[in-house]
Formats: sequence, structure tokens, C-alpha cells
Amino acid sequence: MVIPPKFIFVTGGVMSGLGKGIVTSSTAKLLQLCGLKVSCIKIDPYLNYDAGTMNPLTHGEVFVTEDGGECDMDVGNYERFLDVNLTIDHNITTGRIYSNVIKSEREGKYLGQCVQIIPHITDEIKNQLREIPVKENLDILVVECGGTVGDIESLPFLEALRQMKLEDEYSDTFFIHVTLAPVLDTVGDQKTKPTQHSVQELRRIGIQPDLLAVRCKTQLTKDTIRKISLFANISPESVMSCHDVSSIYSVPEILYEQGIAKVILKKLNLSFVLDDISNWKKISKTYVSYKDHIKIAIIGKYVNLKDSYVSVYQALLHAGAKLGTEIEIDWVDSEKFEVKSGDVNDYGSFGNNLNSLYSYDGILVPGGFGGRGSEGIINASNYARANNIPYLGICFGFQLAIIAFARYVCKLSDANTTEINEKTTNPVIVYMPEQKHIKNLGGTMRLGLHEIDLSSDSNAFEIYKSSSIERRHRHRYEFNQNFKELLEKHGMRFTGSSDNKKRIEILEIPNHIFYFGIQYHGEFHSRPGNPEPSFEHFIRASIKNKISKKDI
Ligand code: GLN
Repeated sequence: MVIPPKFIFVTGGVMSGLGKGIVTSSTAKLLQLCGLKVSCIKIDPYLNYDAGTMNPLTHGEVFVTEDGGECDMDVGNYERFLDVNLTIDHNITTGRIYSNVIKSEREGKYLGQCVQIIPHITDEIKNQLREIPVKENLDILVVECGGTVGDIESLPFLEALRQMKLEDEYSDTFFIHVTLAPVLDTVGDQKTKPTQHSVQELRRIGIQPDLLAVRCKTQLTKDTIRKISLFANISPESVMSCHDVSSIYSVPEILYEQGIAKVILKKLNLSFVLDDISNWKKISKTYVSYKDHIKIAIIGKYVNLKDSYVSVYQALLHAGAKLGTEIEIDWVDSEKFEVKSGDVNDYGSFGNNLNSLYSYDGILVPGGFGGRGSEGIINASNYARANNIPYLGICFGFQLAIIAFARYVCKLSDANTTEINEKTTNPVIVYMPEQKHIKNLGGTMRLGLHEIDLSSDSNAFEIYKSSSIERRHRHRYEFNQNFKELLEKHGMRFTGSSDNKKRIEILEIPNHIFYFGIQYHGEFHSRPGNPEPSFEHFIRASIKNKISKKDI
């Protein structure tokens, strides 16, 4: 039987940051476990065309899809939960919708008409949403609408969703609203009023939710569920408690236990049943009980918002879970390692701040841009090398590790990237030639999936057990191969390359416990139950480092 594609819409109420993305991913996961072909899409009501030009400190990580889309970080959650690779079409923004409509208007497609939000913008939204299930042969598309109900920006999107409910069969759409039941310390009981108001706001624009996912500290009490059910006009079975759990990968389980799949399948008139999620539980339980514990420092410049590096964080957890090791992460602002004076030895400046890094079992430097804090990262990557601390450098972390090596081992004291100092006499990292004539900053980096060849007899080959891999990229600068021979002579090896050796992708230092730099973003590839190999080997080395420190 061919099922017409169904839509589940996830909206948010009360405030942002309630974990709508996790509710969306978890719901989709459960439906996928039923045997349905499911995917997710994120609507971002901001005017930017995509997330590429947004500051990670205010908006969180820019997630890169295989086809080079620069997306909202929730797309990363969908990929990780569903174990699928999505495309740029899975992130719709107001900017994209308006630019399509304006393009059509210029082409004369609406000749004679006055182009308006309703119906032209809402039609474009509906078209884009309806295209995906057809193109990808899906049974269900779960659509997460960013923002909070009541925001001016998200109104056209909610209006489009309302219209879809009206136009499609009763059993083709399902609305989930994510809200909050706060507890005031002084009173102690779960408050339902914010949820009541938020549902009223949604109803005011014509949407009656079918299910509520209510965030709360501890499980919703029977009395809270009864109250919410009564005031929101939703049966108690459709009020889900989304209480705090220690791992996001436990959320599908708590929703499953409350019967979310049953409620959704019934309304969507699908004769599927979900009576076994043991395969998922096998994975999720590795995130709640650990045999061991290690401490990793993530050194970067966007450390004040953990979401700036969410895929890196998740990739570390995936590796730790597989190896039974809990990963404690300290987010360290690199500016604190910019020692202005003090002990300068052969390995550079190891001021007191840098020595604080010795207590970590491993050091990771993620991607980044621009000069601020970069000298601190260079010092830290040098410290990791000189003190035999496991080091994983990703993209900017790869580039800055090369600078540290050139400065402190090859004695090119002004070695730099032209991103930071255009006039350096030793430009070990340079602008990629293809980038030279680019004027626009949005969507113009070297993006998406590229094939990487690995040298045999290298650590890279050991790690990946293959002579070639494919990984995602997001950069404008690269290693300047004029310095390759010199760095190799001093002991650095370049064991991964792409584009017919035009581009260096991997560095390593033999005789070091683990010193590995990657120009690509391995973190976008990592999945719960299947960590990206460079992360897994970094964690293995960090465990080894902890054990050897204990032995001393
Ligand atoms: N700023 C560097 C470049 O553009 C690194 C980018 C990154 O870390 N994603 O090449």
C-alpha cells in the first residue's frame, strides 16, 4: 500500500532552548524504528539565507551537510539520531523563501498579481515542505518550526502549517507543541500556566496541538497532566513528560514509554506498531553508565556557548560511550594562554596558564576563524606536542598546529597563517587559490564532502583502516606545501591529501602518544554507536595517557 506522505509539525512555546530539536529527533527516531521512512526538516524564521554567516556564539554551531549546505545545528541532531545524511533542503529559512518568491516575481511568474505574504510566501513554504517527501520517497516528514509561538518572524510559517492542516486529510498532519512546566523553588509544585497560555496563543492563530511535550525538571505529576489536559483541550495520553535526563539519547526511550508512537500512529491512521526499541536502547545505555572517566580540554574562542561546538562535543561523547569512558569536558578560552611575558624556552612560552593544561588527559582544538585568541591556541597546541599530551586539531586546530610546529620546531619564528598576518615572511597557511577572486562571504568556502587519500604505513591508515575516506569541509585557507619538506625533515608527517595531492588534509607526529590534525570536520560524521575514528583514537590515547600518568 502506498501511504501519502504525512507531516508532523513541531512548534515551540514559552521560551527558546527547551530542546525542540531533541523532541523532533526523538519522535522521528521512534517512527523510524517502526519501519517508516522518516526524515526531518528545520525551519529557521530568520532572514539570513543560511546559517553560514552567523556568529556561532549567538546562534550555535554551523552544521555542514554533505552537499555543502551551511545549516542550523539541529540538522546535526537529525543526522545523529536517524543515522542519515541530509541535504541543504532540510533547512528552510525566511531568506530562502523570500529570495525564491522575489526571483519568481522578477521572472514574471506572478504577472499581474500583487505579491503578498498570503498566498505567495505561504505557498512557497508549503511547496518546499511538500517537495521533500516526494523527492526522498518518505512516509513521514517531521518539520521543526524554529522560534517561539508569538514571534512575528515565525507567523508566515505557522500560517502555512495551518493551511496544510486544512488542505490535507485529517489523518495527514499532526501537531506537537513543546512547552515548559517550571517549578519555583519557594512553592515547589509544577506550574501549568505558561503551557496554558502558549497553547492559547497557538489556537489564536488557528492551530490546536495534537500532543504536548512538556519540559520539566522531574517527571510531570498525574495532577499536572490532568490540569494541562483540561486547559489545553488535549487527552492526558497526549501530554508527554519531557523531564531532565542525563543523556539526550535517552529521550526517545522516555517518550516511547509514555506511548508517543501509539498516539501519533493512531491519528495519522498508520497501522504500524512499535513494540521493541531494544536496538536503540543498546546504544543509549552506553551514555548513562561508564567504567572510567577522563578529562578533555576543548580550547577555542567560542567556548562561552557550548552549542558553538555541539558536533565536536557529541563526537567526543560517542567515542567515550563506545569505550565505556565518561568524558568530562572543560571549555577553555584560548586567550588565557596568550602569555605576554614570562618563561620562554625552546618550546615557546609556557606561562603558568599553559601548565594548567598538564592536568588534562587530552587536548582538542576545534575549528575557528580570525586572529582573536589564536596565539593562545598556537601556544596550547605546542604545549600538547612538547608534553606528549594527546592532541586532536580540527580545521583551524590543524592549521594552528602547523604554525606551532613551524615556529618552535623548525624555528621559523614568524610563521603564521595569512588569515591572521598577511605580511608574514613564512606563510605556512595560505588562502586557497580558488578563493582569491571570491567577493561574497556567504556559501563560498570550500564546503561539503571531498575524498581524502590516506598514505599506507601511517597512523591515519591505522585509524581509518582504509586508503581513502570522504569527509565534510568548511574552510578558505590551507597548508602551504612549499613548507612541506622542511616540516617533514623535522618530524611532522602529512598522511592525508585530496584533489590529487593539491591539498593536505591530515598531519601527524610519529613518536608522540597521539598528535593528529585534520583539515576536514570529522565531527559531522560521528554517530551514537559509531564514533568517527579520529575521535575514537583520540579518546583511546587520552585513556592511555591517564593510565600512564597514574603509573608515574
Ligand atoms: N579559518 C580557517 C579557514 O577558513 C579555518 C576554518 C575552520 O576552522 N572551519 O581555513
